[in-house]
Amino acid sequence: MTDEQISVFSNACVVDGSSAEPYCDKHVLVRNGKIEEVSDHPLSVSAGHTFDLRGKTLMPGLIDCHAHVVATTVRLGDNALLPDSLVTAKAIHIMHGMLMRGFTTIRDLGGADFGLQTAVEEGLILGPRLVICGKGFSQTGGHSDFRGRYDTRDTAYLQTKLGAMGAVVDGVEPLRKAIREQIKGGAQFVKLMANGGVASPTDPVNFFGFSRDEIRMAVEEAAMAQTYVSGHLYTAESILRGIECGIECVEHSTLVNTEAAEAIKSAGAVAVPTLVIFEALHREGEALGLPAESAAKIDGVRLPGLQSLETLKTAGVIMGYGTDLLGELHKYQSEEFLLRDQVLPTHEVIRSATLDAAKVLRMEGQIGCIAPDAFADLIVVDGNPLTDISLLADQGAHIPLIMKGGAMVKNALN
Ligand SMILES: [Zn+2]
Repeated sequence: MTDEQISVFSNACVVDGSSAEPYCDKHVLVRNGKIEEVSDHPLSVSAGHTFDLRGKTLMPGLIDCHAHVVATTVRLGDNALLPDSLVTAKAIHIMHGMLMRGFTTIRDLGGADFGLQTAVEEGLILGPRLVICGKGFSQTGGHSDFRGRYDTRDTAYLQTKLGAMGAVVDGVEPLRKAIREQIKGGAQFVKLMANGGVASPTDPVNFFGFSRDEIRMAVEEAAMAQTYVSGHLYTAESILRGIECGIECVEHSTLVNTEAAEAIKSAGAVAVPTLVIFEALHREGEALGLPAESAAKIDGVRLPGLQSLETLKTAGVIMGYGTDLLGELHKYQSEEFLLRDQVLPTHEVIRSATLDAAKVLRMEGQIGCIAPDAFADLIVVDGNPLTDISLLADQGAHIPLIMKGGAMVKNALN
């Protein structure tokens, strides 16, 4: 690199979720996309730009551990039928919104592909860095099957559509090949719908997804690719079954109980609760055309949400910040902070989108922290989010500066 890109953030109070108090009087040097130095003493560099952050907070860029950037409507069956070009255009808009809320990394749980990921990395799309699984899998009639009760067409026509967040595959060997195809195509982990869901029409939330043999095979295939299986799991029974079969990341976990939470913990697995999607669907789902059979399922997973956080915390489970938002509801992305703050200590809520999120994504030391050699993914907050977490909401209104990989995305400071 010929021109060095240097920024210095001085007199910052750093909040990363590791403590209930900010770390103040910090000085941070960013060079060529990475954090080079974090010091208690003022740093003098000859080039670059210095930001005096007195009275403001410096945080690692936020991480959403469960999102869908290609979910352009709450009607996921319709989403799958949209032209790829339109889905791409809408996904660009969705990703821009995420970045401007301060989310510099997104783990996509179904839909985003290697093309979108590459376009972000090449700077063609202004969006958060993407960690992808490709398509999320379910069996026939499961959570990736959006055909209605009377639709018997083969789902093969959807398998390559960008707007199809999942694919329907049955049987150990067909699923093995499908997983290998996704990994070959750039998937960084494997997503299985191992439990029923809300948005899909014919799978009640208490149904199990996939046979144990299918899940165990997926775990083996993931391990061969040096990665893990993430499971869409609501009920305690499905979580116990998934953990027993080797699933290492539990998505949603809304109907967890003490036994299931302790199983997650003792397996060394992690959880990504997603409360805000159910709150958002409760408020706006029907007006946005959410099918009636889905709307009827919302309260069953919305009402136990806060209790599930307490159960997971008591068991000592690492929790990542997840939102799972769809279509017009992406605007609620930062409100997960406010929901969790009702029952968890504020610094732990923040940690779920920083240090703990990095653990979920297996990117510790690279993202979610302010430390030497980490990507320079940084946000500046007006005030202290440890005493007022709503500063992270309002579509980034209280976040005057956003940097991703050392590149300035937003700068309303100077
Ligand atoms: Zn999801």
